[in-house]
Amino acid sequence: MKYNFPITKTTNKKVKPDPDTLEFGNVFTDHMFIMNYTEGKGWHDGRIVPYAPIPMDPAASVFHYAQEMFEGLKAYKTADGKIQLFRPDKNAERTNNTNIRMCIPTIDPELYVEAIKAVVKVDQGWIPEKPGTSLYIRPFIIANEPFLGVRASKEYLFMIILSPVGPYYKEGLAPTKIFVEDEYVRATQGGTGFAKIGGNYAAGLKSQEKAHELGYSQVLWLDGVERKYVEEIGTSNAFFVIDNEVITAPIEGTILPGITRDSVIHLLKDWGLKVSERRITIDDVYKAYDEGKISEVFATGTAAVISPVGELCWKDRKITIHEGKIGELSQKLYDVLSGIQLGKEEDKYNWVVEV
Ligand SMILES: *Cc1c(COP(=O)(O)O)cnc(C)c1O
Repeated sequence: MKYNFPITKTTNKKVKPDPDTLEFGNVFTDHMFIMNYTEGKGWHDGRIVPYAPIPMDPAASVFHYAQEMFEGLKAYKTADGKIQLFRPDKNAERTNNTNIRMCIPTIDPELYVEAIKAVVKVDQGWIPEKPGTSLYIRPFIIANEPFLGVRASKEYLFMIILSPVGPYYKEGLAPTKIFVEDEYVRATQGGTGFAKIGGNYAAGLKSQEKAHELGYSQVLWLDGVERKYVEEIGTSNAFFVIDNEVITAPIEGTILPGITRDSVIHLLKDWGLKVSERRITIDDVYKAYDEGKISEVFATGTAAVISPVGELCWKDRKITIHEGKIGELSQKLYDVLSGIQLGKEEDKYNWVVEV
């Protein structure tokens, strides 16, 4: 290993949660990774320390102007006890693309992945082994220079925290009900839609609350200019299977380039299916439904891998997709992708990285 991060072990180990009660993101492990950035010095002092609150100056710029970013990936334990990450190099690459947009200094991708491996190794006893569970990894960066002027911070913290998580859907791959949002927008070209930042999430909460109040689990975002083209489902990428063509929004600055999305596109092409990264209007989705041509809709993301959509509601018109049941393609994608992540399926594309 090129990097050797000093480790301070906790003297006060926590009690691990019962694997049957794991939810998403409410339990954290014993340790965390932390590294500082100082202008003139670069990133320095990467280290592993006991998980604990961090002292922050109230003037730290992240509190005022939201200069920050985050990532999300998972560590899995295989049947023979190996620890695997799924395409962590892609998270490193995406971090730097986000950082450039947010005026945050970039990080050496090799250091980034080594830091993830190092902290996961220290807390490997926290990786749950029950089917459907995993260790969620949350790298993030915050601007922490105490300064109220508006410009990029000269100091940052890069941290990695870990959280054992349960299956995203307790009842298995249950199809979701999705509300098509035509009031609020998530992103426009030239904005920050492609960057993984808290600001995009804060701005989306209102719409999510509205969808929940109406009895829907998530929103389908339309493009921010014409409110016509389908873009993302909540915080995941959206796929539509119409007339044997699998369609997903193109990477043109407004959608988040999901790693699951990219993996799904690879698999579908490999299976000989027609996959198109192109714009499609919500009108065309409904027209395809009327003509009986839409067979499946699903969302992709690290948290749930594949999440089938059972119902869409746009301007009070509800349509049921695939009789509200999971489609064959969604099921196959889920089985193969999660199989690769868990070491049950052959890793043809070298996506898996052992810790
Ligand atoms: C993280 C994220 C995704 C999914 O990306 P994955 O790399 O597949 O987890 C999709 N959309 C948004 C807005 C996201 O933040």
